[in-house]
Amino acid sequence: MNTPSSLQGKCAVYFTLGCKLNFAETSTIARQLAEAGVRKARTGEVADICVINTCSVTEVADHKCRQAIHKLVRQHPGACLVVTGCYAQLKPEEVAAIPGVSLVLSQNEKGVIVEKISEAAAGSPPEPVQLAGGESSVFVPSCSCGDRTRYFLKVQDGCNYFCTYCTIPFARGRSRNGSIASLVAQAKQAAAEGGREIVLTGVNIGDFGRTTGESFLDLLRALDEVDGIERYRISSIEPNLLTDEVIAFCAQSRAFMPHFHIPLQSGSDEVLRLMHRRYDTALFYNKVSRVRAYMPDAFIGVDVIVGTRGETAELYDEAERFIESLPVSQLHVFSYSERPGTAALRIPHIVRPEEKHERSQRLLAISDRKLYAFYEQFIGTTRPVLLEHSRAKDLYNGFTDNYIKVEYRGTGSDNTILPLRLTGWNEKKNALIAE
Ligand code: SF4
Repeated sequence: MNTPSSLQGKCAVYFTLGCKLNFAETSTIARQLAEAGVRKARTGEVADICVINTCSVTEVADHKCRQAIHKLVRQHPGACLVVTGCYAQLKPEEVAAIPGVSLVLSQNEKGVIVEKISEAAAGSPPEPVQLAGGESSVFVPSCSCGDRTRYFLKVQDGCNYFCTYCTIPFARGRSRNGSIASLVAQAKQAAAEGGREIVLTGVNIGDFGRTTGESFLDLLRALDEVDGIERYRISSIEPNLLTDEVIAFCAQSRAFMPHFHIPLQSGSDEVLRLMHRRYDTALFYNKVSRVRAYMPDAFIGVDVIVGTRGETAELYDEAERFIESLPVSQLHVFSYSERPGTAALRIPHIVRPEEKHERSQRLLAISDRKLYAFYEQFIGTTRPVLLEHSRAKDLYNGFTDNYIKVEYRGTGSDNTILPLRLTGWNEKKNALIAE
């Protein structure tokens, strides 16, 4: 058995595709390997170890993963190439068959990732890969600094919902979570390291508590008490799990920002039914209205999928009218992609690619208008901005409490929060200028 000390002195590159959860988990892997003596490879340096954390949300995502693997194999000949994440979990044999792949890690193996990589890097034959459909049941904690100012705290993993178009429950397993005590401890550690903002990540965050019997609301209450953390954001929450109590708590909390990301997926009740979503448009509208009533300045981002099976032209038009009527700030538009093994494949009506493209363009145009109108109303107001990414002298980027992207030229320092006046547009960057 090779010990992690066999990694001492090696260098690694990391590549992540997909969601914030994946980025958080890659940062955690990088930190664990750094503790075992693995440094990050310098630009242009051939690495000893490549770690690629994959996504499988669409067919395009699978393709991008394969491309990324091929590229890393070319750029780092002879490296120990480790593939993990949803694509690796769902299609381990396909991934293992790609020339140059040394190790395919399942979700459950993330808890012993350093040992596995150590064995593979030392040339031991890789363990047999886990077959598709294998159940992930371990909650592997992860709290990592995504950039200089923002931490990503994984509070939950997996999903029990099985929406008809989605493969995530197959890839990530059933819903599970860390305990409130352990998550508070991680938040305190992030504060001790200088973190000011934490984004709560997970697959179905509002379903928090399956493992421990605790409630999501109690988690928010406990995190709000952590000294030093001045901002929390909830990365995304299902509308049926965004309870009135959670909304009311965020509105009067010390540190939860007026910022929500709520997946709608379709503005047609019939399509929502085909998707096996657990709400209808009336519930969604009610939740958005309640957020607006409690936090009139809140940024509300909404995910929408176009071109799912069963979305006829009439149902799309109905959906578009509903989406247009929502008092939200931005849409995140995705085109439906056929995923093997999903129940959606049994729905007969298939949307042609050109129709999908056209619907996507229409919703993106609505999103642009909504984002413009949302930003515009804050010109002339002063909002707290967390300064980050100083790229040039005296130039900062940042986000307001309500998630307006700003550019600030002036005195300040990274990772500080300043009250800044929003004066106008930087159209090129889709940001507001702050003074
Ligand atoms: S809630 Fe639905 S779309 Fe979201 S991860 Fe679970 S199954 Fe997939």
